[in-house]
Amino acid sequence: MGANETTTLIKNVNIFNGTSDQLIAGQDVVLADNKIKELVASGGNEAPYDTVIDGSGGTLMPGLSDVHTHLALCKPPPQLLNIYSWDYIGAVMTNEAERYLMRGFTAVRDVGGPTLGLKKAIDEGLATGPRIFSSGMGLAQTAGHGDMRNPNAYSKYFVGEHFRLTDLGYFVLADGVDEVRKACREALASQVSQIKICTGGGVTSLTDPLYSVQYTPEEVAAAVDEATRYGTYVAAHVHTDEGINVALDNGVKTIEHGLLTKEDTIKKLVDKNAWIVPQSYIVSHEANDGNPTFADPIQKAKMDQARNGSANCFRWAKHYGAKVAWGTDMFGTRAAYDNTNLEFKTRAEYYSNVEQLKQVTSANGELLALSNLKHPYPGAKLGVVEAGAYADLLIVDGNPIEDILLMLDYENNFKLIMKDGVAYKNTL
Ligand SMILES: [Zn+2]
Repeated sequence: MGANETTTLIKNVNIFNGTSDQLIAGQDVVLADNKIKELVASGGNEAPYDTVIDGSGGTLMPGLSDVHTHLALCKPPPQLLNIYSWDYIGAVMTNEAERYLMRGFTAVRDVGGPTLGLKKAIDEGLATGPRIFSSGMGLAQTAGHGDMRNPNAYSKYFVGEHFRLTDLGYFVLADGVDEVRKACREALASQVSQIKICTGGGVTSLTDPLYSVQYTPEEVAAAVDEATRYGTYVAAHVHTDEGINVALDNGVKTIEHGLLTKEDTIKKLVDKNAWIVPQSYIVSHEANDGNPTFADPIQKAKMDQARNGSANCFRWAKHYGAKVAWGTDMFGTRAAYDNTNLEFKTRAEYYSNVEQLKQVTSANGELLALSNLKHPYPGAKLGVVEAGAYADLLIVDGNPIEDILLMLDYENNFKLIMKDGVAYKNTL
Protein backbone atom coordinates (compact mmCIF):
# COMPACT_ATOMS: atom_id res chain seq x y z
CA MET A 1 0.00 0.00 0.00
CA GLY A 2 1.23 3.46 -0.77
CA ALA A 3 1.83 5.61 2.28
CA ASN A 4 -0.91 8.11 1.55
CA GLU A 5 -3.54 5.73 0.19
CA THR A 6 -6.87 5.23 1.87
CA THR A 7 -7.54 1.50 1.91
CA THR A 8 -10.76 -0.45 2.10
CA LEU A 9 -11.33 -4.17 2.43
CA ILE A 10 -14.65 -5.57 1.26
CA LYS A 11 -14.73 -9.13 2.50
CA ASN A 12 -16.89 -12.25 2.10
CA VAL A 13 -18.51 -11.52 -1.24
CA ASN A 14 -19.33 -13.47 -4.39
CA ILE A 15 -18.38 -11.40 -7.41
CA PHE A 16 -20.20 -10.73 -10.66
CA ASN A 17 -17.35 -9.03 -12.47
CA GLY A 18 -19.39 -7.59 -15.36
CA THR A 19 -18.12 -10.03 -18.00
CA SER A 20 -18.33 -13.62 -16.66
CA ASP A 21 -21.38 -15.85 -16.80
CA GLN A 22 -20.82 -17.11 -13.27
CA LEU A 23 -20.14 -15.60 -9.89
CA ILE A 24 -16.64 -15.87 -8.49
CA ALA A 25 -17.36 -17.27 -5.03
CA GLY A 26 -15.70 -16.42 -1.73
CA GLN A 27 -13.72 -13.29 -2.54
CA ASP A 28 -12.28 -10.28 -0.77
CA VAL A 29 -11.71 -7.06 -2.68
CA VAL A 30 -9.08 -4.54 -1.72
CA LEU A 31 -9.57 -0.90 -2.70
CA ALA A 32 -6.92 1.79 -2.70
CA ASP A 33 -8.46 5.27 -2.83
CA ASN A 34 -11.01 5.29 -5.65
CA LYS A 35 -9.83 2.16 -7.48
CA ILE A 36 -9.87 -1.59 -7.09
CA LYS A 37 -6.41 -2.82 -6.14
CA GLU A 38 -6.86 -6.57 -6.05
CA LEU A 39 -9.25 -9.48 -5.71
CA VAL A 40 -8.20 -12.33 -3.42
CA ALA A 41 -9.77 -15.48 -1.96
CA SER A 42 -11.58 -14.76 1.30
CA GLY A 43 -9.82 -15.20 4.60
CA GLY A 44 -6.49 -14.18 6.00
CA ASN A 45 -6.73 -10.51 5.10
CA GLU A 46 -5.65 -9.11 8.40
CA ALA A 47 -3.52 -6.24 7.18
CA PRO A 48 -4.64 -2.90 8.59
CA TYR A 49 -7.23 -1.24 6.40
CA ASP A 50 -8.76 2.15 6.96
CA THR A 51 -12.20 0.65 6.42
CA VAL A 52 -13.46 -2.94 6.48
CA ILE A 53 -16.86 -3.82 5.01
CA ASP A 54 -18.22 -7.32 5.58
CA GLY A 55 -20.22 -8.25 2.47
CA SER A 56 -21.90 -11.12 4.34
CA GLY A 57 -22.10 -13.44 1.34
CA GLY A 58 -23.79 -10.87 -0.91
CA THR A 59 -23.07 -10.36 -4.59
CA LEU A 60 -20.52 -7.65 -5.32
CA MET A 61 -20.97 -6.25 -8.81
CA PRO A 62 -20.08 -3.16 -10.82
CA GLY A 63 -22.24 -0.09 -10.26
CA LEU A 64 -25.04 0.14 -12.82
CA SER A 65 -25.10 2.61 -15.68
CA ASP A 66 -28.00 4.01 -17.68
CA VAL A 67 -26.67 5.21 -21.02
CA HIS A 68 -29.84 6.93 -22.18
CA THR A 69 -31.27 9.38 -19.73
CA HIS A 70 -32.23 13.04 -19.48
CA LEU A 71 -31.76 14.37 -15.95
CA ALA A 72 -32.83 17.89 -16.94
CA LEU A 73 -36.10 16.67 -18.49
CA CYS A 74 -37.50 16.38 -14.99
CA LYS A 75 -40.88 17.77 -16.05
CA PRO A 76 -42.85 16.73 -19.13
CA PRO A 77 -41.66 18.53 -22.24
CA PRO A 78 -42.90 20.52 -24.08
CA GLN A 79 -44.80 21.91 -21.07
CA LEU A 80 -41.37 22.32 -19.47
CA LEU A 81 -40.90 25.25 -21.81
CA ASN A 82 -43.52 27.49 -20.41
CA ILE A 83 -44.16 26.57 -16.81
CA TYR A 84 -40.86 25.99 -15.08
CA SER A 85 -38.01 28.35 -14.29
CA TRP A 86 -34.38 27.41 -14.66
CA ASP A 87 -33.72 27.50 -10.91
CA TYR A 88 -36.70 25.19 -10.34
CA ILE A 89 -35.34 22.71 -12.90
CA GLY A 90 -31.88 22.89 -11.35
CA ALA A 91 -33.27 22.16 -7.90
CA VAL A 92 -35.34 19.21 -9.08
CA MET A 93 -32.70 17.60 -11.27
CA THR A 94 -30.07 17.85 -8.53
CA ASN A 95 -32.40 15.89 -6.30
CA GLU A 96 -33.18 13.39 -9.06
CA ALA A 97 -29.44 12.83 -9.60
CA GLU A 98 -29.07 11.74 -5.98
CA ARG A 99 -32.06 9.43 -6.31
CA TYR A 100 -30.49 7.93 -9.47
CA LEU A 101 -27.37 7.03 -7.51
CA MET A 102 -29.48 5.53 -4.74
CA ARG A 103 -31.13 3.22 -7.29
CA GLY A 104 -27.66 1.78 -7.92
CA PHE A 105 -26.61 3.84 -10.95
CA THR A 106 -23.08 5.09 -10.53
CA ALA A 107 -22.85 6.44 -14.11
CA VAL A 108 -25.29 7.83 -16.63
CA ARG A 109 -24.99 9.14 -20.15
CA ASP A 110 -27.20 12.19 -20.43
CA VAL A 111 -28.34 12.41 -24.04
CA GLY A 112 -29.57 15.97 -24.22
CA GLY A 113 -30.12 18.70 -21.67
CA PRO A 114 -28.27 21.23 -19.54
CA THR A 115 -26.46 18.83 -17.22
CA LEU A 116 -22.85 19.97 -17.53
CA GLY A 117 -23.15 22.21 -14.45
CA LEU A 118 -24.77 19.42 -12.47
CA LYS A 119 -21.97 17.07 -13.52
CA LYS A 120 -19.38 19.57 -12.36
CA ALA A 121 -21.09 20.06 -9.00
CA ILE A 122 -21.27 16.28 -8.48
CA ASP A 123 -17.63 15.78 -9.47
CA GLU A 124 -16.62 18.53 -7.05
CA GLY A 125 -18.56 16.84 -4.25
CA LEU A 126 -20.99 19.75 -3.94
CA ALA A 127 -23.93 17.64 -5.07
CA THR A 128 -24.57 13.89 -4.95
CA GLY A 129 -25.23 11.78 -8.01
CA PRO A 130 -23.79 9.43 -10.61
CA ARG A 131 -20.92 10.18 -12.94
CA ILE A 132 -22.44 12.04 -15.89
CA PHE A 133 -21.38 11.72 -19.53
CA SER A 134 -23.21 14.81 -20.71
CA SER A 135 -24.16 15.59 -24.30
CA GLY A 136 -25.21 19.09 -23.30
CA MET A 137 -27.46 20.67 -25.87
CA GLY A 138 -28.79 18.20 -28.48
CA LEU A 139 -28.80 19.20 -32.13
CA ALA A 140 -32.04 19.12 -34.12
CA GLN A 141 -33.19 20.58 -37.37
CA THR A 142 -35.99 23.11 -37.52
CA ALA A 143 -39.26 21.12 -37.59
CA GLY A 144 -37.36 18.15 -36.10
CA HIS A 145 -37.63 16.26 -32.80
CA GLY A 146 -35.97 19.01 -30.81
CA ASP A 147 -38.19 21.71 -32.26
CA MET A 148 -40.78 21.72 -29.50
CA ARG A 149 -41.89 25.28 -30.18
CA ASN A 150 -45.55 26.10 -30.23
CA PRO A 151 -46.53 25.79 -33.93
CA ASN A 152 -47.73 29.40 -33.73
CA ALA A 153 -44.31 30.65 -32.63
CA TYR A 154 -42.74 33.32 -34.77
CA SER A 155 -39.84 32.19 -36.96
CA LYS A 156 -36.46 32.10 -35.26
CA TYR A 157 -34.81 32.84 -38.61
CA PHE A 158 -37.05 35.48 -40.08
CA VAL A 159 -38.47 37.18 -37.00
CA GLY A 160 -35.82 36.31 -34.48
CA GLU A 161 -37.97 34.88 -31.71
CA HIS A 162 -36.03 33.02 -29.04
CA PHE A 163 -36.64 29.31 -28.58
CA ARG A 164 -36.65 28.78 -24.84
CA LEU A 165 -35.31 25.23 -25.01
CA THR A 166 -32.23 26.65 -26.70
CA ASP A 167 -31.94 29.47 -24.16
CA LEU A 168 -32.03 26.84 -21.39
CA GLY A 169 -29.59 24.49 -23.10
CA TYR A 170 -31.78 21.55 -24.11
CA PHE A 171 -31.84 21.69 -27.90
CA VAL A 172 -30.26 23.91 -30.50
CA LEU A 173 -32.00 24.12 -33.87
CA ALA A 174 -29.21 24.02 -36.44
CA ASP A 175 -29.91 23.79 -40.18
CA GLY A 176 -27.43 23.21 -42.97
CA VAL A 177 -23.86 22.00 -42.79
CA ASP A 178 -22.47 25.31 -41.55
CA GLU A 179 -24.90 25.65 -38.66
CA VAL A 180 -24.46 21.99 -37.71
CA ARG A 181 -20.70 22.46 -37.56
CA LYS A 182 -21.09 25.63 -35.52
CA ALA A 183 -23.51 23.95 -33.08
CA CYS A 184 -21.16 20.97 -32.65
CA ARG A 185 -18.29 23.33 -31.91
CA GLU A 186 -20.40 25.17 -29.34
CA ALA A 187 -21.20 21.82 -27.72
CA LEU A 188 -17.53 20.82 -27.73
CA ALA A 189 -16.57 24.18 -26.24
CA SER A 190 -19.01 23.55 -23.40
CA GLN A 191 -17.10 20.29 -22.66
CA VAL A 192 -19.62 17.66 -23.71
CA SER A 193 -18.53 14.03 -23.72
CA GLN A 194 -20.29 13.24 -27.01
CA ILE A 195 -22.51 14.97 -29.57
CA LYS A 196 -26.24 14.21 -29.69
CA ILE A 197 -28.23 14.78 -32.88
CA CYS A 198 -31.76 13.85 -33.96
CA THR A 199 -32.01 12.11 -37.33
CA GLY A 200 -35.67 11.13 -37.11
CA GLY A 201 -39.01 11.91 -35.48
CA GLY A 202 -39.68 11.59 -31.77
CA VAL A 203 -42.56 10.44 -29.58
CA THR A 204 -42.71 13.36 -27.16
CA SER A 205 -42.46 16.16 -29.71
CA LEU A 206 -45.85 17.19 -31.01
CA THR A 207 -45.17 18.54 -34.49
CA ASP A 208 -42.68 16.18 -36.17
CA PRO A 209 -44.01 12.89 -37.54
CA LEU A 210 -42.21 9.77 -36.32
CA TYR A 211 -41.50 8.72 -39.91
CA SER A 212 -39.73 11.97 -40.81
CA VAL A 213 -36.07 11.63 -41.75
CA GLN A 214 -34.27 14.56 -40.16
CA TYR A 215 -30.94 15.93 -41.28
CA THR A 216 -29.42 15.25 -44.66
CA PRO A 217 -26.49 12.87 -45.09
CA GLU A 218 -24.24 15.92 -45.48
CA GLU A 219 -25.41 17.41 -42.17
CA VAL A 220 -24.92 14.11 -40.32
CA ALA A 221 -21.47 13.66 -41.86
CA ALA A 222 -20.55 17.20 -40.76
CA ALA A 223 -21.52 16.44 -37.15
CA VAL A 224 -19.55 13.19 -37.21
CA ASP A 225 -16.53 15.00 -38.67
CA GLU A 226 -16.62 17.64 -35.92
CA ALA A 227 -16.96 15.01 -33.18
CA THR A 228 -14.26 12.78 -34.66
CA ARG A 229 -11.73 15.59 -34.88
CA TYR A 230 -12.17 16.12 -31.13
CA GLY A 231 -11.73 12.44 -30.41
CA THR A 232 -15.35 11.64 -29.63
CA TYR A 233 -18.49 10.42 -31.43
CA VAL A 234 -22.08 11.16 -32.38
CA ALA A 235 -25.19 9.58 -30.81
CA ALA A 236 -28.37 9.84 -32.88
CA HIS A 237 -31.95 9.90 -31.66
CA VAL A 238 -33.92 8.01 -34.31
CA HIS A 239 -36.72 5.48 -34.49
CA THR A 240 -37.42 5.14 -38.18
CA ASP A 241 -35.44 2.79 -40.40
CA GLU A 242 -34.48 5.31 -43.07
CA GLY A 243 -33.13 7.71 -40.45
CA ILE A 244 -31.10 4.88 -38.85
CA ASN A 245 -29.54 4.18 -42.24
CA VAL A 246 -28.61 7.83 -42.80
CA ALA A 247 -27.00 7.84 -39.36
CA LEU A 248 -25.09 4.58 -39.85
CA ASP A 249 -23.96 5.44 -43.38
CA ASN A 250 -22.44 8.68 -42.13
CA GLY A 251 -20.52 7.45 -39.12
CA VAL A 252 -22.89 7.71 -36.15
CA LYS A 253 -21.70 5.29 -33.44
CA THR A 254 -24.80 4.88 -31.25
CA ILE A 255 -28.39 4.56 -32.43
CA GLU A 256 -30.68 5.81 -29.67
CA HIS A 257 -34.04 3.95 -29.64
CA GLY A 258 -33.93 2.53 -33.19
CA LEU A 259 -37.15 0.65 -32.49
CA LEU A 260 -38.46 0.76 -36.07
CA THR A 261 -35.33 -0.76 -37.54
CA LYS A 262 -35.58 -3.33 -40.31
CA GLU A 263 -33.71 -6.61 -40.13
CA ASP A 264 -31.12 -5.66 -42.77
CA THR A 265 -30.38 -2.44 -40.93
CA ILE A 266 -29.42 -4.39 -37.81
CA LYS A 267 -27.00 -6.39 -39.96
CA LYS A 268 -25.54 -3.10 -41.20
CA LEU A 269 -25.21 -1.86 -37.61
CA VAL A 270 -23.26 -5.02 -36.76
CA ASP A 271 -21.02 -4.62 -39.84
CA LYS A 272 -20.24 -1.06 -38.84
CA ASN A 273 -19.51 -2.03 -35.23
CA ALA A 274 -22.06 0.53 -34.06
CA TRP A 275 -24.33 0.28 -31.00
CA ILE A 276 -28.07 0.27 -30.54
CA VAL A 277 -29.66 1.59 -27.34
CA PRO A 278 -33.27 0.35 -27.42
CA GLN A 279 -35.82 0.62 -24.62
CA SER A 280 -38.37 -1.94 -23.51
CA TYR A 281 -40.02 -0.43 -20.44
CA ILE A 282 -40.72 3.14 -21.55
CA VAL A 283 -42.71 1.90 -24.55
CA SER A 284 -44.73 -0.62 -22.49
CA HIS A 285 -48.36 0.02 -21.63
CA GLU A 286 -47.40 -0.23 -17.97
CA ALA A 287 -45.02 2.72 -18.33
CA ASN A 288 -46.96 5.05 -20.57
CA ASP A 289 -50.67 4.52 -20.02
CA GLY A 290 -51.67 7.41 -17.79
CA ASN A 291 -48.18 8.90 -17.92
CA PRO A 292 -48.57 12.72 -18.19
CA THR A 293 -45.45 12.91 -20.36
CA PHE A 294 -47.29 11.07 -23.15
CA ALA A 295 -50.83 12.28 -22.53
CA ASP A 296 -51.48 14.00 -25.86
CA PRO A 297 -53.22 11.85 -28.52
CA ILE A 298 -50.41 12.70 -30.95
CA GLN A 299 -47.88 11.34 -28.47
CA LYS A 300 -49.99 8.27 -27.79
CA ALA A 301 -50.22 7.45 -31.51
CA LYS A 302 -46.46 7.78 -31.93
CA MET A 303 -45.85 5.68 -28.82
CA ASP A 304 -48.01 2.92 -30.32
CA GLN A 305 -45.81 2.88 -33.42
CA ALA A 306 -42.62 2.71 -31.37
CA ARG A 307 -44.04 -0.05 -29.16
CA ASN A 308 -44.99 -2.10 -32.20
CA GLY A 309 -41.39 -2.06 -33.41
CA SER A 310 -39.74 -2.77 -30.08
CA ALA A 311 -39.99 -6.58 -30.02
CA ASN A 312 -38.51 -7.04 -33.50
CA CYS A 313 -35.73 -4.59 -32.73
CA PHE A 314 -34.67 -6.53 -29.64
CA ARG A 315 -35.04 -9.93 -31.30
CA TRP A 316 -33.01 -9.03 -34.39
CA ALA A 317 -30.38 -7.26 -32.32
CA LYS A 318 -29.99 -10.41 -30.25
CA HIS A 319 -30.09 -12.76 -33.24
CA TYR A 320 -27.35 -10.91 -35.13
CA GLY A 321 -25.21 -10.28 -32.06
CA ALA A 322 -25.52 -6.49 -32.20
CA LYS A 323 -23.88 -4.40 -29.53
CA VAL A 324 -26.86 -3.59 -27.32
CA ALA A 325 -26.57 -1.13 -24.46
CA TRP A 326 -28.85 -0.66 -21.47
CA GLY A 327 -30.61 2.69 -21.38
CA THR A 328 -34.07 3.60 -20.19
CA ASP A 329 -35.07 7.06 -21.50
CA MET A 330 -37.18 7.53 -18.38
CA PHE A 331 -37.92 11.23 -17.88
CA GLY A 332 -40.63 13.76 -17.20
CA THR A 333 -41.78 12.94 -13.66
CA ARG A 334 -40.39 11.63 -10.40
CA ALA A 335 -42.53 8.53 -10.81
CA ALA A 336 -40.91 7.84 -14.19
CA TYR A 337 -37.35 8.15 -12.86
CA ASP A 338 -38.27 5.99 -9.87
CA ASN A 339 -39.34 3.26 -12.32
CA THR A 340 -35.95 3.16 -14.05
CA ASN A 341 -35.12 -0.30 -12.67
CA LEU A 342 -38.29 -1.75 -14.23
CA GLU A 343 -36.34 -1.93 -17.50
CA PHE A 344 -34.77 -5.06 -15.98
CA LYS A 345 -38.20 -6.70 -15.85
CA THR A 346 -39.35 -5.91 -19.40
CA ARG A 347 -35.95 -6.54 -21.01
CA ALA A 348 -35.96 -10.02 -19.43
CA GLU A 349 -38.40 -10.98 -22.20
CA TYR A 350 -35.46 -10.83 -24.64
CA TYR A 351 -32.30 -11.35 -22.65
CA SER A 352 -31.17 -13.81 -20.00
CA ASN A 353 -30.34 -12.43 -16.58
CA VAL A 354 -26.60 -12.58 -17.08
CA GLU A 355 -26.83 -11.09 -20.58
CA GLN A 356 -28.73 -8.16 -19.17
CA LEU A 357 -26.34 -7.76 -16.24
CA LYS A 358 -23.45 -7.58 -18.70
CA GLN A 359 -25.30 -4.93 -20.71
CA VAL A 360 -25.93 -2.70 -17.70
CA THR A 361 -22.31 -2.96 -16.55
CA SER A 362 -19.44 -3.89 -18.89
CA ALA A 363 -21.21 -3.29 -22.22
CA ASN A 364 -22.35 0.14 -21.11
CA GLY A 365 -18.81 0.76 -19.86
CA GLU A 366 -17.53 -0.04 -23.34
CA LEU A 367 -20.05 2.34 -24.90
CA LEU A 368 -19.14 5.12 -22.46
CA ALA A 369 -15.48 4.65 -23.41
CA LEU A 370 -16.37 5.76 -26.97
CA SER A 371 -16.06 9.30 -25.61
CA ASN A 372 -12.34 8.57 -25.85
CA LEU A 373 -10.48 11.91 -25.76
CA LYS A 374 -13.57 13.63 -24.31
CA HIS A 375 -14.01 10.94 -21.66
CA PRO A 376 -14.73 12.84 -18.45
CA TYR A 377 -13.29 10.12 -16.20
CA PRO A 378 -10.23 8.79 -18.02
CA GLY A 379 -7.63 6.53 -16.51
CA ALA A 380 -9.65 3.52 -15.34
CA LYS A 381 -12.44 1.23 -16.53
CA LEU A 382 -16.10 1.53 -15.63
CA GLY A 383 -18.55 -1.38 -15.49
CA VAL A 384 -16.18 -4.14 -14.35
CA VAL A 385 -14.83 -5.51 -11.09
CA GLU A 386 -11.15 -6.05 -11.77
CA ALA A 387 -7.82 -4.71 -10.56
CA GLY A 388 -7.31 -1.14 -11.70
CA ALA A 389 -10.99 -0.36 -12.36
CA TYR A 390 -12.83 2.45 -10.62
CA ALA A 391 -14.37 1.42 -7.30
CA ASP A 392 -17.97 1.92 -8.48
CA LEU A 393 -19.62 -1.03 -6.78
CA LEU A 394 -22.86 -2.53 -5.52
CA ILE A 395 -23.49 -5.31 -3.06
CA VAL A 396 -26.77 -7.05 -3.80
CA ASP A 397 -28.45 -9.25 -1.21
CA GLY A 398 -28.86 -12.43 -3.27
CA ASN A 399 -27.73 -13.53 -6.71
CA PRO A 400 -29.10 -11.41 -9.58
CA ILE A 401 -27.82 -13.97 -12.14
CA GLU A 402 -30.47 -16.28 -10.69
CA ASP A 403 -33.11 -13.63 -10.04
CA ILE A 404 -32.98 -10.42 -12.07
CA LEU A 405 -36.04 -9.10 -10.24
CA LEU A 406 -33.78 -8.47 -7.23
CA MET A 407 -32.70 -5.37 -9.15
CA LEU A 408 -36.17 -3.85 -8.86
CA ASP A 409 -36.28 -3.52 -5.07
CA TYR A 410 -33.14 -1.45 -4.80
CA GLU A 411 -34.14 -0.02 -1.42
CA ASN A 412 -34.07 -3.39 0.27
CA ASN A 413 -31.70 -5.42 -1.89
CA PHE A 414 -28.84 -3.00 -2.55
CA LYS A 415 -26.82 -3.09 0.66
CA LEU A 416 -23.83 -1.12 -0.55
CA ILE A 417 -23.71 1.60 -3.18
CA MET A 418 -20.21 2.93 -3.77
CA LYS A 419 -18.98 5.43 -6.35
CA ASP A 420 -15.36 6.42 -6.80
CA GLY A 421 -14.45 4.59 -3.60
CA VAL A 422 -17.03 6.45 -1.49
CA ALA A 423 -19.93 4.52 0.07
CA TYR A 424 -23.18 6.47 -0.43
CA LYS A 425 -25.21 3.67 1.10
CA ASN A 426 -24.04 0.95 3.45
CA THR A 427 -26.60 -1.08 5.38
CA LEU A 428 -24.35 -4.11 5.90
ZN1 LIG B 1 -34.06 10.35 -25.10
